[in-house]
Amino acid sequence: MKYYIIFGPPGAGKGTQSVLIAKKYNFKHISTGALLRQEIEKRSEIGIIAKAVIEKGEFVSDDIVIEMVRKVLCNNEDSIKGYILDGFPRTLNQAVELDKVLESLGEKISSVLALVTDDEVNIRRIQHRANIEGRKDDADFDTIRNRIRTYHKVTEPLITYYKSQKKYKPVSGELSVEENFRDICKIIDSE
Ligand code: ADP
Repeated sequence: MKYYIIFGPPGAGKGTQSVLIAKKYNFKHISTGALLRQEIEKRSEIGIIAKAVIEKGEFVSDDIVIEMVRKVLCNNEDSIKGYILDGFPRTLNQAVELDKVLESLGEKISSVLALVTDDEVNIRRIQHRANIEGRKDDADFDTIRNRIRTYHKVTEPLITYYKSQKKYKPVSGELSVEENFRDICKIIDSE
């Protein structure tokens, strides 16, 4: 089984590329953001906690997201060839816990596909997406800024973690969707 992480700041295009990757390679797409939004829709206990946090542009607690991901990864699916993790891990603790879950399954991360984009590009894309998807956390400029600030402070240090494991594979996220996808496929096909 292959386990890829798609990595990058909010608005870099992780979701778009994940859908293309999942389709081409028969991977299961796990988006923690999408899973949390489903919980919010259902008004579940997790959803109620997550809603307030997400709408401020802050992170949901590690315990909640790790458990969500663990459940999906441990629910063996024979029909797929791998997983693409989107929006997870986002903290060093999540990365360490993910390694532990995979180790318990006798598996490991294949590579971290990192979309490299400029903050101004990300902000423009999120503002564009706000009109299409209607996400509350995309609607307010201060919330967008907060998410990007949190990315730099809390998530970006994961680059060092994955570089030290020789798993970090950067590609430019500022090309067209097709060009970006082509660059990602080159990495996956070379492994
Ligand atoms: P984006 O990457 O564009 O911000 P996501 O859909 O991945 O969008 O995430 C939306 C929000 O959901 C995040 O801003 C955060 O509040 C919450 N979230 C998603 N994944 C995680 C995670 N791994 N850890 C903590 N919070 C998360």
